[in-house]
This record gives sequence, C-alpha cells and structure tokens, in this order.
Amino acid sequence: MNGIRRRFRKGIVRILNSDGQPSNHYFGKICHKHPELIGKRLEGNRACYGCFLEAKKKYREINKTEIARKFKQWNEKNREKRAVSQKIWQQKNNEYIKRKSKIYYEKNKAKKAEYLRIWRLSNKDKVLATATTHKIIRKRLICGQKLARTFAREISEIYRFCPTGFEVDHIIPLRGKDVNGLHVPWNLQYLPTLENRRKHNRCMESV
Ligand SMILES: [Zn+2]
Repeated sequence: MNGIRRRFRKGIVRILNSDGQPSNHYFGKICHKHPELIGKRLEGNRACYGCFLEAKKKYREINKTEIARKFKQWNEKNREKRAVSQKIWQQKNNEYIKRKSKIYYEKNKAKKAEYLRIWRLSNKDKVLATATTHKIIRKRLICGQKLARTFAREISEIYRFCPTGFEVDHIIPLRGKDVNGLHVPWNLQYLPTLENRRKHNRCMESV
C-alpha cells in the first residue's frame, strides 16, 4: 500500500485510456534509452514502457515454440469463447477492418491475379464446372424472379401481416449451400426473430 501511495504522489500524471479511465501507465522519470516516450512508465514495477516492450519482445523470441503451443492449446479449449469475442471485436472495428483489407487488397492485387491465372490454367476442369453451375444458378434466379413477380401481391401481403416479434423466413433459403429456394408464397413462413437469426442460411433439417 505504501508503495502505491508513494508512486502516485503529487505531480505525477497518470495516462488516461481512450474511454477516459486511468490506465496503468504514468509519466515519471525519462529513460535515457527511450527519451521519445517522455517518461512513460508502468504502474506495477515503475519500469520504462520502452524497456518493458523490448524485454517482452526478447522473451517472446526466446520462448517462441512454447508460446505457440500454449496459444494453440488455449484456442482449442476456448474455441466458442474466442469466436464470440472475435465477433464482438469485428463489429466494433468494422471501419478499421474495411480500411485494412482494402489496403491489403490493393497491395496484393497483381500477385493474386497472377496466382489465379496459373491456377486456372492447371485446373481447367474445375473452372468449367463452376461456369456451368453459375449458368444454372443464373437461369434459376431469372425463373425465380419471374415467379416472384407473378405472386408479388400475395408476397407483399405476407410481409404486411407479419406479427411483431416475427420475421418472414424462406423455408428453403434463397441462397443455401446446396439449394436455391424461391421467393414465392409457399416458401415463406413466420419465424420468431431470434430463431430466424439462428437459422440464417441453413435448411431447417440440418439445424
Ligand atoms: Zn527505456
């Protein structure tokens, strides 16, 4: 306790986090190795932040394989937990991810195109098969659009009379993994919102 009181005596400036809460850093004596950090130090052991980062890097370099093994082990154990936190992070950092992936895409455009060109040359049968499937899907989509137009009034009525807390759901998904459902009255049903979210793009049978 004494140490803490001494550490944050008058005149010491604690660094605030982005949300305004005090972080575990403060400005203290300027380190002669890291003058650019103007004395940013850790609350715990009062070490210079720059020196701390260097030590951390060194430790990681030495214990690389052990850390990787432990990380993998933890990941396998906490797969679901990690998926949840990852999703939350992605939602929070949507803009950042978009910006980063755009930069990455621009940087590796030529490389990717070259790789794809070579892959296509050596996988002609696969290319042909995909083209055929796309053709079939396009044909089906056009048929579906025609049908949807025919039943437009019924469909709009189904949407209009959807009870609160429910969503209109396609029994066979429009873009399922193996099947493409139709946007027609007999492929529509009311589903509680939560359940609909859970179902997402899968068929009811496989849930
Ligand atoms: Zn330092």
